[in-house]
Amino acid sequence: MIDQYAVIGNPIAHSRSPEIHAAFARQLGHQFSYLRIEAPLCDFVGTVRAFRRDGGKGANVTVPFKLEAFAMGTDHSQRAIAAGAANTFCFGLDPDAVFADNTDGVGLVRDIRQNIGVPIAQRRVLVLGAGGATRGVLAALAAEGPAELAVANRTFSTAQQLLADLSPYLNDIRAHVVDVAALPEHRFDLVINATSASLFGDLPLVPPTCFDLGGLAYDMMYGKGLTPFLALAQAAGAQAVDGIGMLVEQAAESCWLWRGVRPETKPVIAMLKRAL
Ligand code: NDP
Repeated sequence: MIDQYAVIGNPIAHSRSPEIHAAFARQLGHQFSYLRIEAPLCDFVGTVRAFRRDGGKGANVTVPFKLEAFAMGTDHSQRAIAAGAANTFCFGLDPDAVFADNTDGVGLVRDIRQNIGVPIAQRRVLVLGAGGATRGVLAALAAEGPAELAVANRTFSTAQQLLADLSPYLNDIRAHVVDVAALPEHRFDLVINATSASLFGDLPLVPPTCFDLGGLAYDMMYGKGLTPFLALAQAAGAQAVDGIGMLVEQAAESCWLWRGVRPETKPVIAMLKRAL
Protein backbone atom coordinates (compact mmCIF):
# COMPACT_ATOMS: atom_id res chain seq x y z
CA MET A 1 0.00 0.00 0.00
CA ILE A 2 1.29 3.50 -0.80
CA ASP A 3 1.88 5.94 2.08
CA GLN A 4 -1.15 8.00 3.03
CA TYR A 5 -1.28 11.57 4.32
CA ALA A 6 -4.21 13.94 4.81
CA VAL A 7 -5.28 17.42 5.80
CA ILE A 8 -7.87 17.40 8.59
CA GLY A 9 -10.11 20.39 9.28
CA ASN A 10 -13.70 21.62 9.28
CA PRO A 11 -14.63 22.87 6.74
CA ILE A 12 -12.06 21.33 4.42
CA ALA A 13 -13.52 21.31 0.89
CA HIS A 14 -11.71 24.56 -0.01
CA SER A 15 -8.24 23.26 0.97
CA ARG A 16 -5.56 23.46 -1.75
CA SER A 17 -3.19 21.14 0.15
CA PRO A 18 -4.08 17.97 -1.87
CA GLU A 19 -3.14 19.77 -5.12
CA ILE A 20 0.12 20.99 -3.58
CA HIS A 21 1.15 17.56 -2.31
CA ALA A 22 0.12 15.90 -5.59
CA ALA A 23 2.44 18.36 -7.37
CA PHE A 24 5.24 17.54 -4.91
CA ALA A 25 4.72 13.79 -5.48
CA ARG A 26 4.95 14.25 -9.28
CA GLN A 27 8.03 16.43 -8.97
CA LEU A 28 9.82 14.02 -6.61
CA GLY A 29 8.71 10.85 -8.38
CA HIS A 30 7.19 9.62 -5.10
CA GLN A 31 4.04 7.54 -4.76
CA PHE A 32 1.75 8.67 -1.94
CA SER A 33 -1.84 9.75 -1.48
CA TYR A 34 -3.02 12.92 0.28
CA LEU A 35 -6.69 13.21 1.27
CA ARG A 36 -9.00 15.91 2.58
CA ILE A 37 -10.74 14.75 5.78
CA GLU A 38 -13.51 16.72 7.42
CA ALA A 39 -13.48 15.94 11.14
CA PRO A 40 -16.71 16.50 13.08
CA LEU A 41 -16.21 19.49 15.39
CA CYS A 42 -16.79 17.21 18.39
CA ASP A 43 -14.45 14.40 17.32
CA PHE A 44 -11.09 15.56 16.03
CA VAL A 45 -9.15 12.99 18.07
CA GLY A 46 -11.34 10.09 16.91
CA THR A 47 -10.93 11.18 13.28
CA VAL A 48 -7.13 11.30 13.58
CA ARG A 49 -7.03 7.88 15.27
CA ALA A 50 -9.25 6.33 12.56
CA PHE A 51 -7.04 7.78 9.79
CA ARG A 52 -4.00 6.38 11.50
CA ARG A 53 -5.59 2.96 12.00
CA ASP A 54 -6.32 2.94 8.25
CA GLY A 55 -2.61 3.41 7.50
CA GLY A 56 -2.09 7.20 7.74
CA LYS A 57 1.60 8.11 8.09
CA GLY A 58 1.18 11.81 8.82
CA ALA A 59 -1.32 14.65 8.64
CA ASN A 60 -1.73 18.37 8.36
CA VAL A 61 -4.24 20.01 10.65
CA THR A 62 -6.10 23.21 9.93
CA VAL A 63 -8.85 25.44 11.33
CA PRO A 64 -10.29 24.98 13.92
CA PHE A 65 -8.21 22.09 15.31
CA LYS A 66 -4.66 23.45 15.72
CA LEU A 67 -4.95 23.73 19.51
CA GLU A 68 -6.46 20.26 19.81
CA ALA A 69 -3.67 18.98 17.58
CA PHE A 70 -1.12 20.40 19.98
CA ALA A 71 -2.91 18.75 22.91
CA MET A 72 -2.94 15.42 21.08
CA GLY A 73 0.84 15.45 20.53
CA THR A 74 2.96 13.25 22.80
CA ASP A 75 6.17 14.89 21.57
CA HIS A 76 6.44 18.46 20.24
CA SER A 77 8.90 20.52 18.20
CA GLN A 78 10.22 23.68 19.84
CA ARG A 79 8.31 25.78 17.29
CA ALA A 80 5.02 24.02 18.15
CA ILE A 81 5.70 24.62 21.85
CA ALA A 82 6.32 28.33 21.15
CA ALA A 83 3.06 28.57 19.19
CA GLY A 84 1.04 26.39 21.57
CA ALA A 85 -0.55 25.03 18.38
CA ALA A 86 0.28 22.33 15.83
CA ASN A 87 -0.47 21.95 12.12
CA THR A 88 1.57 18.84 11.28
CA PHE A 89 1.57 15.33 12.72
CA CYS A 90 4.15 12.59 12.12
CA PHE A 91 3.05 9.11 13.14
CA GLY A 92 5.87 6.74 14.06
CA LEU A 93 5.88 3.02 14.78
CA ASP A 94 4.61 3.39 18.36
CA PRO A 95 0.82 3.59 17.89
CA ASP A 96 0.44 5.87 20.91
CA ALA A 97 3.14 8.38 19.92
CA VAL A 98 2.30 11.51 17.91
CA PHE A 99 4.98 14.05 16.97
CA ALA A 100 3.33 17.49 16.66
CA ASP A 101 5.01 20.33 14.78
CA ASN A 102 4.07 23.80 13.54
CA THR A 103 5.31 24.76 10.06
CA ASP A 104 3.42 28.06 9.62
CA GLY A 105 6.30 30.24 10.83
CA VAL A 106 8.96 28.67 8.63
CA GLY A 107 6.51 28.78 5.71
CA LEU A 108 5.92 32.52 6.10
CA VAL A 109 9.57 33.41 6.62
CA ARG A 110 10.77 31.35 3.63
CA ASP A 111 8.14 32.91 1.40
CA ILE A 112 9.08 36.46 2.40
CA ARG A 113 12.84 35.99 2.42
CA GLN A 114 13.45 33.49 -0.38
CA ASN A 115 10.51 33.78 -2.80
CA ILE A 116 9.67 37.48 -2.50
CA GLY A 117 13.28 38.38 -1.72
CA VAL A 118 12.60 40.75 1.16
CA PRO A 119 14.82 40.50 4.25
CA ILE A 120 13.25 40.59 7.71
CA ALA A 121 16.49 41.25 9.60
CA GLN A 122 16.80 44.85 10.81
CA ARG A 123 13.32 45.72 9.46
CA ARG A 124 10.37 47.19 11.33
CA VAL A 125 7.67 44.50 11.30
CA LEU A 126 3.98 44.78 12.22
CA VAL A 127 1.72 41.74 12.57
CA LEU A 128 -2.01 42.44 12.55
CA GLY A 129 -4.09 39.90 14.50
CA ALA A 130 -3.50 37.80 17.58
CA GLY A 131 -5.07 34.46 16.71
CA GLY A 132 -3.58 31.07 15.91
CA ALA A 133 -1.77 32.28 12.78
CA THR A 134 0.08 35.01 14.69
CA ARG A 135 0.98 32.49 17.41
CA GLY A 136 2.41 30.22 14.72
CA VAL A 137 4.65 32.80 13.07
CA LEU A 138 5.87 35.23 15.73
CA ALA A 139 8.86 33.21 16.99
CA ALA A 140 10.03 32.54 13.42
CA LEU A 141 9.85 36.27 12.62
CA ALA A 142 11.77 37.09 15.81
CA ALA A 143 14.45 34.56 14.86
CA GLU A 144 15.17 36.63 11.73
CA GLY A 145 16.30 39.57 13.89
CA PRO A 146 13.90 42.40 12.98
CA ALA A 147 14.68 45.87 14.35
CA GLU A 148 11.14 46.00 15.76
CA LEU A 149 8.35 43.44 16.09
CA ALA A 150 4.91 44.89 16.81
CA VAL A 151 1.53 43.20 17.16
CA ALA A 152 -1.79 45.05 16.83
CA ASN A 153 -5.16 43.43 17.28
CA ARG A 154 -8.80 44.53 17.33
CA THR A 155 -8.99 43.13 20.87
CA PHE A 156 -6.00 44.67 22.64
CA SER A 157 -5.98 42.25 25.59
CA THR A 158 -5.65 39.21 23.28
CA ALA A 159 -2.49 40.68 21.77
CA GLN A 160 -1.12 41.40 25.25
CA GLN A 161 -1.76 37.80 26.32
CA LEU A 162 -0.16 36.48 23.15
CA LEU A 163 3.04 38.47 23.69
CA ALA A 164 3.17 37.43 27.34
CA ASP A 165 2.88 33.76 26.30
CA LEU A 166 5.44 34.01 23.50
CA SER A 167 8.02 36.29 25.11
CA PRO A 168 10.32 33.38 26.14
CA TYR A 169 10.62 32.46 22.45
CA LEU A 170 11.28 35.87 20.91
CA ASN A 171 15.08 35.99 21.15
CA ASP A 172 15.25 39.27 23.08
CA ILE A 173 13.76 41.07 20.07
CA ARG A 174 12.03 44.38 20.82
CA ALA A 175 8.48 42.99 20.63
CA HIS A 176 5.54 45.08 21.74
CA VAL A 177 1.79 45.54 21.38
CA VAL A 178 0.53 48.66 19.59
CA ASP A 179 -3.00 49.86 20.23
CA VAL A 180 -4.79 50.07 16.85
CA ALA A 181 -5.75 53.66 17.74
CA ALA A 182 -2.03 54.51 17.94
CA LEU A 183 -1.09 52.92 14.59
CA PRO A 184 -1.13 56.28 12.71
CA GLU A 185 1.95 57.23 14.79
CA HIS A 186 3.94 54.23 13.47
CA ARG A 187 5.49 53.20 10.16
CA PHE A 188 6.70 49.73 9.16
CA ASP A 189 8.80 48.13 6.41
CA LEU A 190 6.75 44.93 6.56
CA VAL A 191 3.06 44.68 7.53
CA ILE A 192 1.60 41.17 7.79
CA ASN A 193 -2.15 40.71 7.90
CA ALA A 194 -2.69 37.65 10.09
CA THR A 195 -6.30 38.54 10.89
CA SER A 196 -9.19 36.69 9.26
CA ALA A 197 -10.69 40.02 8.08
CA SER A 198 -9.88 39.31 4.40
CA LEU A 199 -11.89 36.09 4.61
CA PHE A 200 -15.00 38.27 4.97
CA GLY A 201 -13.86 41.02 2.57
CA ASP A 202 -13.17 43.35 5.52
CA LEU A 203 -10.27 45.69 6.12
CA PRO A 204 -8.48 45.23 9.46
CA LEU A 205 -7.94 48.46 11.36
CA VAL A 206 -4.76 49.74 9.75
CA PRO A 207 -4.13 53.27 8.43
CA PRO A 208 -2.37 53.80 5.03
CA THR A 209 0.37 55.75 6.83
CA CYS A 210 1.62 52.49 8.41
CA PHE A 211 3.08 51.28 5.12
CA ASP A 212 6.53 52.47 4.22
CA LEU A 213 6.88 53.45 0.56
CA GLY A 214 8.39 50.42 -1.19
CA GLY A 215 7.77 48.25 1.87
CA LEU A 216 5.98 44.88 1.81
CA ALA A 217 2.33 44.21 2.71
CA TYR A 218 1.67 40.49 3.13
CA ASP A 219 -1.84 39.08 3.50
CA MET A 220 -1.83 35.50 4.84
CA MET A 221 -5.19 35.06 3.12
CA TYR A 222 -4.97 33.65 -0.40
CA GLY A 223 -7.32 33.11 -3.32
CA LYS A 224 -9.28 36.31 -2.68
CA GLY A 225 -7.45 38.52 -5.21
CA LEU A 226 -6.59 42.05 -4.14
CA THR A 227 -8.10 42.07 -0.64
CA PRO A 228 -9.08 45.42 0.95
CA PHE A 229 -5.85 45.18 3.00
CA LEU A 230 -3.67 44.63 -0.09
CA ALA A 231 -5.52 47.34 -2.05
CA LEU A 232 -4.92 49.85 0.74
CA ALA A 233 -1.25 48.91 0.95
CA GLN A 234 -0.76 49.10 -2.81
CA ALA A 235 -2.37 52.54 -2.94
CA ALA A 236 0.04 53.60 -0.18
CA GLY A 237 3.02 52.52 -2.32
CA ALA A 238 3.79 49.13 -0.76
CA GLN A 239 4.34 45.83 -2.59
CA ALA A 240 1.22 43.66 -2.08
CA VAL A 241 1.52 39.87 -1.81
CA ASP A 242 -0.97 37.19 -0.72
CA GLY A 243 -0.36 34.04 1.36
CA ILE A 244 -0.25 31.35 -1.31
CA GLY A 245 3.54 31.10 -1.06
CA MET A 246 3.28 30.57 2.71
CA LEU A 247 0.80 27.76 2.16
CA VAL A 248 3.13 26.02 -0.30
CA GLU A 249 6.21 26.56 1.88
CA GLN A 250 4.55 25.09 4.99
CA ALA A 251 3.45 22.13 2.87
CA ALA A 252 7.05 21.67 1.66
CA GLU A 253 8.20 21.61 5.28
CA SER A 254 5.63 18.86 6.01
CA CYS A 255 6.94 16.92 3.02
CA TRP A 256 10.46 17.26 4.41
CA LEU A 257 9.30 15.97 7.81
CA TRP A 258 7.42 13.02 6.34
CA ARG A 259 9.64 11.99 3.42
CA GLY A 260 13.04 13.52 4.14
CA VAL A 261 13.08 15.49 0.86
CA ARG A 262 12.35 19.15 0.28
CA PRO A 263 10.47 19.77 -2.98
CA GLU A 264 10.99 22.81 -5.22
CA THR A 265 8.29 25.28 -4.24
CA LYS A 266 8.52 27.97 -6.94
CA PRO A 267 6.87 25.94 -9.75
CA VAL A 268 4.08 24.87 -7.40
CA ILE A 269 3.44 28.46 -6.28
CA ALA A 270 3.33 29.52 -9.95
CA MET A 271 0.90 26.67 -10.75
CA LEU A 272 -1.46 27.69 -7.93
CA LYS A 273 -1.29 31.38 -8.82
CA ARG A 274 -2.38 30.49 -12.36
CA ALA A 275 -5.25 28.37 -11.00
CA LEU A 276 -6.57 30.95 -8.49
P1 NDP B 1 -8.12 33.10 14.33
O1 NDP B 1 -9.61 32.93 14.25
O2 NDP B 1 -7.35 32.34 15.33
O3 NDP B 1 -7.79 34.68 14.63
C1 NDP B 1 -8.45 35.68 13.90
C2 NDP B 1 -7.80 37.04 14.20
O4 NDP B 1 -8.35 37.97 13.28
C3 NDP B 1 -8.07 37.57 15.60
O5 NDP B 1 -6.93 38.29 16.03
C4 NDP B 1 -9.25 38.52 15.36
O6 NDP B 1 -9.29 39.60 16.27
C5 NDP B 1 -8.92 39.07 14.00
N1 NDP B 1 -10.07 39.53 13.22
C6 NDP B 1 -11.10 38.79 12.77
N2 NDP B 1 -11.95 39.57 12.04
C7 NDP B 1 -11.42 40.81 12.03
C8 NDP B 1 -11.81 42.05 11.45
N3 NDP B 1 -12.94 42.17 10.73
N4 NDP B 1 -11.03 43.13 11.65
C9 NDP B 1 -9.89 43.04 12.38
N5 NDP B 1 -9.47 41.90 12.97
C10 NDP B 1 -10.22 40.79 12.79
O7 NDP B 1 -7.59 32.86 12.84
P2 NDP B 1 -6.13 32.38 12.42
O8 NDP B 1 -5.17 33.18 13.20
O9 NDP B 1 -6.05 30.91 12.49
O10 NDP B 1 -6.08 32.77 10.86
C11 NDP B 1 -5.97 34.10 10.43
C12 NDP B 1 -5.84 34.16 8.92
O11 NDP B 1 -4.60 33.61 8.49
C13 NDP B 1 -6.94 33.38 8.17
O12 NDP B 1 -7.37 34.20 7.10
C14 NDP B 1 -6.22 32.16 7.64
O13 NDP B 1 -6.79 31.70 6.42
C15 NDP B 1 -4.82 32.73 7.41
N6 NDP B 1 -3.77 31.68 7.42
C16 NDP B 1 -3.05 31.47 6.26
C17 NDP B 1 -2.06 30.51 6.22
C18 NDP B 1 -1.29 30.30 4.96
O14 NDP B 1 -0.60 29.27 4.85
N7 NDP B 1 -1.34 31.22 4.02
C19 NDP B 1 -1.73 29.69 7.42
C20 NDP B 1 -2.50 30.03 8.60
C21 NDP B 1 -3.50 30.98 8.57
P3 NDP B 1 -10.01 39.49 17.73
O15 NDP B 1 -8.98 38.89 18.66
O16 NDP B 1 -10.35 40.89 18.04
O17 NDP B 1 -11.22 38.61 17.53
